[in-house]
Amino acid sequence: MTDLASPPAVATEAGAGTDRLTPSERDRILAKAALFSPPPAVLADGRRELVGLSREEMTQALAEIGEKPFRTKQLWHWIYHQGVTDFARMSSIAKPLQAKLAERFVVGRPVAATVQTSSDETRKFLFRFRDGQEAETVYIPDRREDRGAVCISSQVGCTLSCRFCHTGTQGLVRNLGTAEIVGQFMAARDSYGEWPSPRGETPRLLSTIVLMGMGEPLYNYDNVARAMRIVMDGEGIGLSRRRITLSTSGVVPMMDRCGEELGVNLAVSLHAVRDELRDEIVPLNRKYPIAELIAACRRYPAASNARRITFEYVMLRGVNDSEAEARELVRLIAGIPAKVNLIPFNPWPGSAYLPSTREQLDRFAQIVMDAGFASPIRMPRGRDILAACGQLRTESRRTRPVAA
Ligand code: SAH
Ligand code: SF4
Repeated sequence: MTDLASPPAVATEAGAGTDRLTPSERDRILAKAALFSPPPAVLADGRRELVGLSREEMTQALAEIGEKPFRTKQLWHWIYHQGVTDFARMSSIAKPLQAKLAERFVVGRPVAATVQTSSDETRKFLFRFRDGQEAETVYIPDRREDRGAVCISSQVGCTLSCRFCHTGTQGLVRNLGTAEIVGQFMAARDSYGEWPSPRGETPRLLSTIVLMGMGEPLYNYDNVARAMRIVMDGEGIGLSRRRITLSTSGVVPMMDRCGEELGVNLAVSLHAVRDELRDEIVPLNRKYPIAELIAACRRYPAASNARRITFEYVMLRGVNDSEAEARELVRLIAGIPAKVNLIPFNPWPGSAYLPSTREQLDRFAQIVMDAGFASPIRMPRGRDILAACGQLRTESRRTRPVAA
């Protein structure tokens, strides 16, 4: 990590924008997120959802029914290691307590409204939550190994309106809650029968999480952070932070916090190398322009040569795919331990762009590679079921309930 830019370079790049990094700016983002809070994780009959509670909260909930703290460890194991949802199957817990727990609590899952498996084995789930809202989760198998990534949604919709993104056309309905975020991964695991959680290097299909589904994870930071802490807990699902990648369109103040607190891998949706163009296609750029975004990447604590930042770059024909732009891209990210994911634009009905030609993609990739950055061209998977990460949209939901 010592090879990152020196502090003076960071200060110059951040320029006058450093006021955007103040605690008050973070507070403003968190307060806004609260306006789109998920409904409380409680059933109509009063039973409380245990999934999504931190260990401390679970201990507190158990104390309220007169149970001792050691029960948390037991329940945690059953819920997150064994994947059990029925208290009656928790054999280390005596029957009377099983019944008492079942009266007060529930271990739920989002309901799979639809499941589609593509010809390339990509599987897309449309999950429905308790209030009827839906979000998509995609399992993307690795072609070479018996493992794969679960692409998880963080919001229903998105407040940002990137011009090439299908999710961005629907506005934000609401944030997903902790239980709903963890629940997507757990329900995907149910679907592959991958319980109990494999330990250590045991091969497993659902081996990584990418927060690249619907929504901007850093605009729902609290719930996303709580969910990631749960999946990283070594006595449960036990995914290492190296196996989690959070993709952001560039919410700079929250990138710092994410790096400090979670230390997960970072993917940054760059898509343009000039502010004028990025302002148009990723409108968040008007708030956090390229220089500030790149400065935040340079200081991202979890980046190193072993754990590179991924710059995502969706290739739009004649818009951002020139060789001059490729050269500017490598100049911008010089010195950052990074790779560049070139994503062929995946068109959707009504979209205003065309994908770059294969020749142009290759020319662009070559310039980036010649500069020493890995630049895989990420072929869209699950095309036949419209499952590419980031272009998800819940077709079945047309009305948009207003957040209270
Ligand atoms: N909001 C976050 C994460 C979700 S989008 C973000 O923007 O990073 C995940 C990725 O898919 C982003 O890089 C996004 O730009 C990309 N994406 C969105 N729409 C796409 C499309 N139609 N074709 C290809 N990639 C797309
Ligand atoms: Fe939101 Fe990401 Fe889509 Fe932009 S690309 S609209 S930030 S989901």
